[in-house]
Amino acid sequence: IWGCDTIEKAASFIMSLPSPIFLPNYVAGKIGLPSSEATTFIDSYEPKTGKLLSRLPRSQDVDVEDAIRHARAAFQTWSKTTRTERSRHLRRISELLQQNRELFAVWESIDQGKTLERARIEVDRAISNFSYFSTYILHEQTAARMVDGVALTYEHRSPAGVFALISPWNMPLYLLTWKIAPCIAFGCTAVAKPSEVTSMSAYLLGILLQKAELPAGVVNIVLGDGPTTGAALVASPQIDGVSFTGGTETGIAIRRATAHQIKKHISLELGGKNPTLVFADSMAPATRERTIRIAATAAFENQGEICLCGSRIYVERAAYEEFVGLFTEYVAKTYVPRETMGAVTSAQHYSKIRGYLELAAKEKVTFNLGSVPCPVEECSNKGYWVPPTVLTEVAPNSALLKDEIFGPVVTICPFDDEADAVRLANDSEYGLAAVLLTTNGARMRRVGEQIEAGLVWVNCWLVRELGTPFGGMKNSGTGREGGEYSRDVFTVARTLHLPAY
Ligand code: NAD
Repeated sequence: IWGCDTIEKAASFIMSLPSPIFLPNYVAGKIGLPSSEATTFIDSYEPKTGKLLSRLPRSQDVDVEDAIRHARAAFQTWSKTTRTERSRHLRRISELLQQNRELFAVWESIDQGKTLERARIEVDRAISNFSYFSTYILHEQTAARMVDGVALTYEHRSPAGVFALISPWNMPLYLLTWKIAPCIAFGCTAVAKPSEVTSMSAYLLGILLQKAELPAGVVNIVLGDGPTTGAALVASPQIDGVSFTGGTETGIAIRRATAHQIKKHISLELGGKNPTLVFADSMAPATRERTIRIAATAAFENQGEICLCGSRIYVERAAYEEFVGLFTEYVAKTYVPRETMGAVTSAQHYSKIRGYLELAAKEKVTFNLGSVPCPVEECSNKGYWVPPTVLTEVAPNSALLKDEIFGPVVTICPFDDEADAVRLANDSEYGLAAVLLTTNGARMRRVGEQIEAGLVWVNCWLVRELGTPFGGMKNSGTGREGGEYSRDVFTVARTLHLPAY
């Protein structure tokens, strides 16, 4: 679309844009600012420089209602299209994303603060979201059963309706398309709202959907904040289902706002405070390097701003000292701000992380790496840089071990034996993900099955097949998405009984 197939072209295209960039909505197939006179604007700053980057509308109730109305109208026809037709649309979108991969990656890296390398991985995941579901719907089977020789029953699935798709700022394009792709693949239509902190790739995606000739109204994208735009969207009785990814408190607010309605589906992908368990056997010479690398990647990928990051490391006491030394050395060498590690996403988030590091200093925690960064007022025009931080000697009841910091900050504590490791891993209100580092095959299963987490990775991290169930336990959320689990979100299953004569 933009002819930006190389990084150079993508960069020069972005440099040619006015500053700040005004980001419009995408409603009923049209790109434009909301019509409401009450619309105010939100400023969004570039994390790596702290400079004003874009300005987006705080879409009001009437704009949200308008988008929902168009999504409802489009549902009448889109829900009746064949899987082959929908599959073709998804494939076309994935091809266009592929052709514009560099532009999306540069754009996302500027807007979110992540490295370009990381942004490329996420754009590739966004492409896979569309290609995966375009194929999935073509191969889905429905089982029929005979009942007592008198009736043939089968499961009939119909699209569930119009969905509110709400996403956070940490992996903006990837997480938004993780919702949009299955939603439209299974015949639903959507009003999507990206995070107000990172709305740039959603704006580009709107243009791309228009160019892909997706029928008007099938996907609508409204920009705005949570309390105004997001709240109006989920509270609407015209919204049949909600797929939300974000913080636990917001998930609870959504549950509360919809408590008096029977939505067909509400899935909540929420926060995490994920443990990484390092057993002494994994520190043997043959696997030591791998253990350190996986624990560090799980902690610091995308500046620790991934809900699945392992920010609480527990190490078997026999290997504790050695691990802390080697890990700290590896992190200092591998995660260098501005080179191999990005900036944290906003001034507000920077202040939150800094607050926890101030607490660490107050609690006399040991900073093996990092220190309390400068106050946010000193960041203007410099960007929001938090260096990788490794903390030890943390008191067991410290908020540093309980709260989701969601930045490049990791704690390391010792454990005594397997039972102690499981107890510490599960000592959290969250239950999203866990990493287990061991070479003992029996332990992999034994401990893996005892950890209260939706996803457990053994000697690896972030590996994912899109058909597997994704979602958390405890305060990390409810509902599962991926493959047939996404089908369950976006369709309603009914049983039909036909006479067997
Ligand atoms: P957030 O909850 O503040 O915001 C998420 C989205 O919800 C944004 O688009 C926001 O505008 C919107 N929102 C806020 N209040 C709303 C309301 N009352 N009604 C409707 N929408 C509302 O989260 P965030 O700070 O953007 O993202 C960070 C959080 O997301 C972290 O807790 C992280 O763990 C979590 N996360 C979870 C997963 C997962 O898969 N479980 C993935 C990524 C991020």
